[in-house]
Amino acid sequence: MNEVELEKIKEKALSEHIPILMDDTLEVIDKILKEVKPKRMLEIGTAVGYSAMCFSRYLDEDGTIDTIEREHDRVEEAKENIKKVGVENKINILEGDAVEILPTLNNKYDVVFIDAAKGKYPFFLEQSKRMLNKNGIIFADNILYKGYVMSDYNKHKQRTAVRNLREYIKEVTEDENCKTEILEVGDGLAISRFK
Ligand code: SAH
Ligand code: MG
Repeated sequence: MNEVELEKIKEKALSEHIPILMDDTLEVIDKILKEVKPKRMLEIGTAVGYSAMCFSRYLDEDGTIDTIEREHDRVEEAKENIKKVGVENKINILEGDAVEILPTLNNKYDVVFIDAAKGKYPFFLEQSKRMLNKNGIIFADNILYKGYVMSDYNKHKQRTAVRNLREYIKEVTEDENCKTEILEVGDGLAISRFK
């Protein structure tokens, strides 16, 4: 894995304001993936491939990540990036809207990372649960959305997103099949460990 290229890709993404995984969030996920050593991972929201490439370090031997992205230009850039870093055998990009793609998938995953349209988090959760292996983990990034989710402010123009993020939190905290932590790292990270 070409770390120098990965660092360059990270810097470029940051300079273009692409909302890539934040360092403190990555640190938390890193620790968990190191223990889990997932064989199959699903990511919703590839952007330019940065997070998928970071996660690919911790895959089990022959492990792979399926990652979904709807913006064609980002898919193209992610493909180039993945080649530059030398992890094209580990990352499989699915181009299209996750809302349409997810119901067509019938794979089993050990870990899911949700990092796309906030208004769709409850749907992404439902679909991820359907494909999650026993003892699987679902991460949801941006779950606190700049603090809007935990405040009583709901006149914001992003209120649909906020309502759906709250719905996601409610579902995972009430689900007896999993234990959930909500961490204030980055823009908020939900970690749900399933039975
Ligand atoms: N995980 C990436 C960052 C993802 S940013 C990283 O940390 O490096 C969120 C991405 O999700 C954007 O590129 C956006 O185009 C994509 N996205 C948003 N809604 C989507 C949807 N419904 N289906 C597929 N991709 C989506
Ligand atoms: Mg994010």
